[in-house]
Amino acid sequence: MKHTKETVLKSIEENNVKFIRLQFTDMLGVVKNVEVPVSKIDKVLNNEVMFDGSSIDGFVRIQEADMYLYPDLNTWLIMSWENIKVGTVARLICNVYKPDGTPFEGDPRFILKKQLNEMEKLGFTAFNTGVEPEFFLFKLDENKKPTLTLTDTGGYFDLSPIDASEDVRRDIVLELQRLGFIVEASHHEVAYGQHEINFQFDNALEACDNIQTFKMVVKNIARKHNYHATFMPKPVAGINGSGMHTNCSLQTNDNTNAFYDKNHPDGLSEVAYQFIAGVLKHANEFCLVTNPIVNSYKRLVPGYEAPCYVSWSKANRSTMIRIPATRGKGTRVEVRSVDPSANPYLAMAVILAAGLEGIKNRLTTVPVEINLFSLSDSERKALGIKNLPENLSEAINVYETSIFVENILGKHLYNKLLGAKKKEWNSYRTAVSKWEIDEYLDVI
Ligand code: GLN
Ligand code: MG
Ligand code: MG
Ligand code: MG
Repeated sequence: MKHTKETVLKSIEENNVKFIRLQFTDMLGVVKNVEVPVSKIDKVLNNEVMFDGSSIDGFVRIQEADMYLYPDLNTWLIMSWENIKVGTVARLICNVYKPDGTPFEGDPRFILKKQLNEMEKLGFTAFNTGVEPEFFLFKLDENKKPTLTLTDTGGYFDLSPIDASEDVRRDIVLELQRLGFIVEASHHEVAYGQHEINFQFDNALEACDNIQTFKMVVKNIARKHNYHATFMPKPVAGINGSGMHTNCSLQTNDNTNAFYDKNHPDGLSEVAYQFIAGVLKHANEFCLVTNPIVNSYKRLVPGYEAPCYVSWSKANRSTMIRIPATRGKGTRVEVRSVDPSANPYLAMAVILAAGLEGIKNRLTTVPVEINLFSLSDSERKALGIKNLPENLSEAINVYETSIFVENILGKHLYNKLLGAKKKEWNSYRTAVSKWEIDEYLDVI
């Protein structure tokens, strides 16, 4: 435990905290919050703050609207970038509870915690997760609205002056450090105006809390520089999109990495192979969770370093799973399909559950070391390699048949997500796009 009621009260005194944001994440991955003045701290600490769940995406119906926020004290944080004249603002990430005192089954954080419990039953102590969220910076117009004008024409690992946003990235890193993040590295990504900042891995729950904080910091600091930061997976056609590669490993009681086996020629354990096999087996069923929006599928196309096929390799980046070269404690599996529009709690829950399925059923798998983009459809088929869904509709169809995903997400959220995504697809399907106008209006 990093914090207790006493340490929170002490921190309020020391930092002159005036407001506390109580945060949670909705079904679609959006951070929501209600802010209370510090005079109401007793109510906060006694789990008495209520809100209307019927107005939140994926939560409840009007007639059962009352929900309670139970703060996780370990998430206590002074939000250093929020300057108010009279003191500071702090936040607590909360679990959502029902009036009868039981956890709300549609709370994404609860869904991940359930899966972490399942993991512990199998003898693992942590699901270590390190993510690589990529994002774009765009210029704002005179009304402070985002434009599609990129901030620079830099490419992978470029320096200033080609990389015109080094200062923005550094400011983001400094802010993250002030908040206690251990930042590993930051760099310009392959596409114009695209960036990546890596921070230290953590057990999945903390890692997801960190992702939510990270996104908020990136967006807020970018704004201070008059830029708009977006985690949209494919904002510009014809150049790379943004992924959120998810590096993961399981840890055992004795604090060792269960994916490492020094006696195996590859340095990978049986457990690692089984985990990979489980993730690949269920990849299409959970794609709607790891790649949840219409735009996600504009990224998963050949030619832009994003995967399209369900396979793994030790180094080849055309596969959905890659094994980075590090061995020993750092041995990990990199799931490359995930994008940053995913609700991180749900994405980690499905990846973990699929991996655990592989371990429980002792599934086996072989790597594919050829560049899959250079093969024809029939050659890939002959190798038994499936495609990832090509659009949201395909992802919805496989999700809809998956009892496995329904069990992980629970009936409530599983059905709400299905409904929301069908609606989204229908709205997209019936819209007339600029592409169609450009292509047909003149000639037909
Ligand atoms: N942007 C790529 C993706 O969509 C990844 C590129 C990289 O990290 N080398 O996943
Ligand atoms: Mg990276
Ligand atoms: Mg990257
Ligand atoms: Mg990567």
